[in-house]
Amino acid sequence: MKIVADTHTHTIASTHAYGTVKEMVEEAAALGLYAIAITDHGPNMPGSPRQWYFNNLNAIPSTYLGVRVLKGAEANIADFDGNLDIDEPTLKSLEWIVASIHDPTLDTSIIQPDFETCTALYLNAAENPYINVIGHCGTPRYKFDYEEVIPVLAEKGKLIEINDSAFKRQKNSIPNCVQIAKICKKVGASIVVNTDAHFMTELGRFDGTLRMLEEIQFPEELVVNSSIERFEKYLREHNLPLRKLWT
Ligand SMILES: [Zn+2]
Ligand SMILES: [Zn+2]
Repeated sequence: MKIVADTHTHTIASTHAYGTVKEMVEEAAALGLYAIAITDHGPNMPGSPRQWYFNNLNAIPSTYLGVRVLKGAEANIADFDGNLDIDEPTLKSLEWIVASIHDPTLDTSIIQPDFETCTALYLNAAENPYINVIGHCGTPRYKFDYEEVIPVLAEKGKLIEINDSAFKRQKNSIPNCVQIAKICKKVGASIVVNTDAHFMTELGRFDGTLRMLEEIQFPEELVVNSSIERFEKYLREHNLPLRKLWT
């Protein structure tokens, strides 16, 4: 299986990532990727860019160095109701929203993230119309009822991310990622394979994920970024890109 688009990547704007947009796109071009989504962290993450950064992303052309560049964000799921930390007009203007939970951005002083609460959180996130991708949901601390939630996410058109950083840097997530992928296969839920690159050398390298998907004989047609046609079809079906100025 070949992955043609890396739709979860970070730049120096996140301040704990280390490549510029230009360097990331150059790397994508060198690897022959069709598309990249720039998804810096939403404002609740310490050191992350403010709203204006996201509002001004149309300064970047929609195709640069021959690579399609989707302007997005990795929004933080900000509370246990599944709300995001980016305002609605900005979410509307962006082309690609990954929604994830991060330790520093969730107020666990209010509610402890137990299994039932996390299940409810993801069921609520499924209702959010702006979310394209549920990011790195194999994180052990926020484990939820995969059997219950994954079919709902699929029904609402949310892509479930298998994030290659699990195989590089967050290895305690691997068993959950395998379990999630097996359930996606069983119920026919579409996934997206991403790197969550925080530097150019991580971009476009999906080896651990692809090996795992091969081992469980995951069907290629459920991986939306496994061909240009599939990826474009997803964008069309979800009316993306949203901002006409960018086309
Ligand atoms: Zn990050
Ligand atoms: Zn993340």
